[in-house]
Amino acid sequence: MTDYRPETRAVHLPQPIIEGSRPIAVPIYQTSGFVFDDPEVMANAMGSPDGPFVYGRYTNPTVRSLEQAISGLEGGSGAIATGSGMGAVNIVLLGLLKPGDHFIAQQALYGGTAAMINELAGRFGVTVSYVPEDDPAALRAAVRPETRLVYLETIANPMCQVADLPGMFAVARELGLVSVVDNTFATPMLCRPIEHGADIVIHSTTKYLSGHTDVVGGMAVFADDALYKKVWHFAISLGASADPFAAWLTLRGLQTLPLRMERHCANARLLATRLADHPAVAAVHWPGLPTHPSYELAGKLLPDFGGVFAFDLAGGRAAGEKFMSSVRLALLAPSLGGVETLILQPATTSHRALSAAELAKHGISEGTVRVAVGIEHAEDLWADFEQALA
Ligand SMILES: *Cc1c(COP(=O)(O)O)cnc(C)c1O
Repeated sequence: MTDYRPETRAVHLPQPIIEGSRPIAVPIYQTSGFVFDDPEVMANAMGSPDGPFVYGRYTNPTVRSLEQAISGLEGGSGAIATGSGMGAVNIVLLGLLKPGDHFIAQQALYGGTAAMINELAGRFGVTVSYVPEDDPAALRAAVRPETRLVYLETIANPMCQVADLPGMFAVARELGLVSVVDNTFATPMLCRPIEHGADIVIHSTTKYLSGHTDVVGGMAVFADDALYKKVWHFAISLGASADPFAAWLTLRGLQTLPLRMERHCANARLLATRLADHPAVAAVHWPGLPTHPSYELAGKLLPDFGGVFAFDLAGGRAAGEKFMSSVRLALLAPSLGGVETLILQPATTSHRALSAAELAKHGISEGTVRVAVGIEHAEDLWADFEQALA
């Protein structure tokens, strides 16, 4: 390198050669592509996720570390990181469905997923039927010759219905359908859907897995290698890839996932229990309470019930708005799964596109408040809620 002129030496930086030790933390490999010594190796690198790193849209060492970490936690054989949770939803749905296909989804779905399914139905010739998340007989009855896939969410937003994964996926397996589940709300700390028959597990890593409200990302985890490779080939064409810095932030968050989930669940339990006894509250929706319709199923499927719950204020929409404007510690914001407690009114935000009748079908009222509990001290949160209710 010393023979070259300064213009050339400035461009071709020395790469660190690491021998005899290695970094403790996973480094950020902030590079768009990789250099090869051998043209034959380079020529063969493009066709498979197993080969050497080649180009950032395919994967990257930091991204691969995250893919392996989450795949390991879920018990998968491979995973594909994406730039958002919706990216993961879409590599799976678009990667596996074609015009003329039919699939079956649960009624209560994340808003972005519901909107994307409407796009698929409206413009891509894919049809969908909706069934309750805990009704294997209804699933069986909805299956047609062209049905390909079943799509569930472990814990739904915002009313926290729990899906009967073993029951629903047993029917799917018997009928040769691909079983897909969005496990964002439960995380692998509360549920590993592959153990209950899932073929694909989707995450918005934006939420609990990263956990610090500072990154948007997604992941699709595959139980078997054939499905992983099939979707991988589509995913690199779609280009919804994860960025190495986003992957690095998510890796950093993931290290404390078990500790954070314990606190999220404990805080949700305390707030949900006390709210259920408060005179201004008409109902609390958290699967750890015996009044929740999923209580029995949740008790069998999950060791704890997550950090999201909803509650209905007896005073309706006005009481909801008053509560929202009276809290001092909880933040009015979308999203969930971060260290801060966030609240919103589904009727005016996440579910604003639904009519009053559709809201009622989902059990959401105008006075429903959704709480994504953070990891603050529970008594500080309770004091905030109590003063806002007063
Ligand atoms: C947030 C979320 C998504 C979408 O994830 P993004 O990272 O916002 O694209 C999908 N499913 C569930 C259950 C979510 O909470």
